[in-house]
Amino acid sequence: MGKTVDIAVVGSGYVGLVAAVCFAEMGHHVICVDNDPAKVKALQGGDSLIHEEHLPQLLNKYRNNQVEFTTDLGAATEKAAAIFIAVGTPQSETGDADLSYVEAVACEIARHLKTYKVIVEKSTVPVYTNEWIRRAIERNGVDRSLFDVCSNPEFLREGTAVSDFLHPDRIVVGADSEKAARLLQEIYAPLTSGDYYTREGIIPGEFTSDAPPPLLLTSTKSAEIIKHASNAFLALKISFINAVSSLCEATDANVQQVAQGMGLDTRIGPRFLRPGIGYGGSCFPKDVAAFRSVAEQMGVDFSLLTEVERINANQKKRFLAKVRAALWTLRGKKLAVLGLAFKGDTDDIRDSPAIEMVKMLIAEGCSITAYDPAAIERTRAVLPESDKLRYADGIYAAAEDADALLILTDWHEFGALDLEKLRTALRYSIIVDGRNMYDPAKVADAGITYYSVGRPVAH
Ligand code: NAD
Repeated sequence: MGKTVDIAVVGSGYVGLVAAVCFAEMGHHVICVDNDPAKVKALQGGDSLIHEEHLPQLLNKYRNNQVEFTTDLGAATEKAAAIFIAVGTPQSETGDADLSYVEAVACEIARHLKTYKVIVEKSTVPVYTNEWIRRAIERNGVDRSLFDVCSNPEFLREGTAVSDFLHPDRIVVGADSEKAARLLQEIYAPLTSGDYYTREGIIPGEFTSDAPPPLLLTSTKSAEIIKHASNAFLALKISFINAVSSLCEATDANVQQVAQGMGLDTRIGPRFLRPGIGYGGSCFPKDVAAFRSVAEQMGVDFSLLTEVERINANQKKRFLAKVRAALWTLRGKKLAVLGLAFKGDTDDIRDSPAIEMVKMLIAEGCSITAYDPAAIERTRAVLPESDKLRYADGIYAAAEDADALLILTDWHEFGALDLEKLRTALRYSIIVDGRNMYDPAKVADAGITYYSVGRPVAH
C-alpha cells in the first residue's frame, strides 16, 4: 500500500461519511467531523444513519480506530494534512448555491491553521468558490503560505456510493499548486496505482472494470465547473429522453425502442436514457439551478438549462394527467403508491419526485397508501400520517383495495411484483408505472391494464 495520509473530512452526510470510511479502506487515517452531536454519537456507536450498501460493514471495520468521529473541527484541523469540506450546499431562494456552511467551515479552519494544510472542496460548489475560501481564511489572519485550496468534486451516486467511491470512472483534482496536487495524488494512489484492486475482499465495483481509474489534474476552476457541467449534462439527458417520451406518447411510438436505437450509438450511449417522472434528489435540481445562476452572473446565455428544468417540472404534470386518464376522475380515489425515495436503493427523500407526486395527488383529492423499503421513516417526518395518507408495511398491504397502483421509485423489488397477487389485491386492475419497470405485454397478460411512460397503454 502507498503512504498513509492524515485526513479530516468535515460533514458526515452521504458524501462525507462515505468518503471517510473509503479513505480508511484505502489505508489512510481519518477524522470525520460533524457539528451535529447526535449524529457524531450515533456514528461512534456504529449506526450509519443512512441506507447505503456496504456502509455498515466499513463503518464497523474502521470506526474508533482508523476513522474517528468528533465535533471538534479545530483539533481535526491541527492533526490533518488534508481537510476535505463535505458539508451541504443547498439551493438558496435565488437558485444560487447557499455557501454559508462552507464559509463557516473555512473560518473555523482558519482559527486553527498553524502548519501547512491542503483544504479540499469535496462539496459541489460554483466556480470561484476556491477563491472565496482562500479569501475567508486570509481575512482571518492566516498567511497565504500556510495553505492551498483545491477542488476534488465527488461523483458518487446514492445507492452505490461506496462502490462508486472505490471504483470511480475518474478522479478529478483541481489544484493550482504542485504541492497540493502531489498530496491529492498520494491520497488517491491506492486507486490510481491499481494496488487497492489487487487486495483480497475488496468492495466490488458496479459498471466498472477494475482497471485503475484515471486521475485528471486540472485548474481549480475547471474542476469546479466539471462537477456542475457533469450534473447539468446528466439532467439534460434525462429531460431530453422525457421530451422524446412525450413525443412517443403523442405518436403511439415506443420510447424504449427509440432509446435503445439511440443508445447503441457509442457517441450517445445507453445510460440515462430512461424516461420517468422527472429527475430529483439532493443534487440535480439544485446543481442545475446553481449552474444556470453562475452562467447568468457571468453574462453567459445558458437558457438551455432553463428548458431542462421546464421539461422536468412538466414531466410530473404529465404523469398526473396519465393517472387521471387511467381513472377518469381523481377526487376520492384510493391509490397505492410504491416508492417515496428519490430513486431506488436509498432512503434519501430530498427533492424526491415521488413525494411531490404524492402531494399533487392528495391536492387532487386522492387518498394514498404508500410503501417504500427504506424511506418511510424520513417521509413520515415531513408528511405525517393523516386521513389522506397512510404508510403500509409491504407492497401488497399498500395495494389492498386500491383503485390503482402507482410505481414512483425504481427499487429492484418493484420490478419483480407478483402480478397475480397484485391483481387480486387491487380493486381495479390498473398499474401506472412512472419508472417503466415492466414489459407491458407481461403485465397485460396478467390481466392488468398497464400505463407507463412513452409507451402505448397495454391491456
Ligand atoms: P448531507 O446533508 O447528507 O451532509 C452534510 C453534513 O454536513 C451534515 O451531516 C451536517 O450536519 C454537516 N455540517 C453542516 N455544517 C457543518 C459544519 N459547520 N461543521 C461540520 N459539519 C457540518 O449532504 P451530502 O448529501 O453529503 O452532500 C454534501 C455535498 O456533497 C453537497 O455539496 C452535495 O451537493 C455534494 N454531493 C452530494 C452527492 C450525493 O449523492 N448526496 C454526490 C456528490 C456530491
